[in-house]
Amino acid sequence: MSTVVLLTDDAELMAELRQAFAQVAPALRVLQAHEAGASEAEVAACWFPPAGALQALPKLRLIHSVSAGIEHLDTAGDLPAVPVCRVVDPEQRQGMVEFMRWAVIHYQRHFDLVLARQQQARWQRPPQIPAGEYRVGVLGLGSMGSAVAQDLAGAGYAVRGWSRSPKTLAGVDCHHGDSGLQDCLTGLDLLINLLPLTTATAGLLNSRVFAALAPGAVLVNGGRGQHVAAADLAAALSSGQLRAALLDVFEQEPLPADHPWWHTPGVTVTPHMASAASARCIASQIAANTQRLLTGAALLHRADPALGY
Ligand code: NDP
Repeated sequence: MSTVVLLTDDAELMAELRQAFAQVAPALRVLQAHEAGASEAEVAACWFPPAGALQALPKLRLIHSVSAGIEHLDTAGDLPAVPVCRVVDPEQRQGMVEFMRWAVIHYQRHFDLVLARQQQARWQRPPQIPAGEYRVGVLGLGSMGSAVAQDLAGAGYAVRGWSRSPKTLAGVDCHHGDSGLQDCLTGLDLLINLLPLTTATAGLLNSRVFAALAPGAVLVNGGRGQHVAAADLAAALSSGQLRAALLDVFEQEPLPADHPWWHTPGVTVTPHMASAASARCIASQIAANTQRLLTGAALLHRADPALGY
């Protein structure tokens, strides 16, 4: 019988995953790190694993992130030299498409301004910009970003995208690499970030990027909080270079109650809710990859620790 050890300090997540594993893979032995037999685990299912926990597993053959990203694994540290996989959930992807569709319509149709004017009982019709004239950029064209970009293109928006390697997506003006970033950004009305957090992407949403957008543009960050250079964002909002920022992810989560973003004019805070993988899907994919280890089949959704995603 294979053993999976759950490495996370998040008690709620731990309980959900145990229940899901019991339903979808009852034959699998799923343990917490302190339980007898856990050190025999071949597979570690991780969300911010405690320091040294992976290195303490002599039989480890697979490190599995329970999320889309692997930034919580300390890939720059001494990660054991075994494959690393992540979760790719079609329902999570659909949730992201819905969230970003809402965000784009919210700002394109100026609902942010209209809701603020209601507070002052102010009747003022905003301009109506046709979708085809509303320029939206998507940074990251992976599982999430490509679905979002194609959905928005299908709805008629003028969509550009940016990735590390070249891409072709129907209806999307695709750019890639460091040299392609400026062309992707220039004159955008709304910028969506769906990059993974890596050493190459940390702090990428900075004053240089904001200056390339159309005056009064909007930032929507669905990637990670560390992508945003916070002082640059505050300055861009206060100068009007950005009209608004929708922030779903933060360096520290939950966002502390005294954090300025809660009250910064133009900023909307959402509680890392853009989309989540279900515990059932996470358990199914980890169980499937555990089975693949046994049979020698290719693992699903491998990440590259050297690239950080
Ligand atoms: P993927 O790994 O499938 O895609 C990542 C994309 O980013 C790829 O297109 C990749 O390029 C591109 N990329 C990576 N590094 C660079 C770089 N240096 N320069 C340019 N492009 C780069 O990830 P997902 O789409 O599954 O998820 C992306 C991120 O979204 C996650 O890591 C997570 O941070 C965030 N997320 C947030 C959620 C939320 O609720 N807010 C929910 C789910 C995910 P290439 O295609 O060439 O490899």
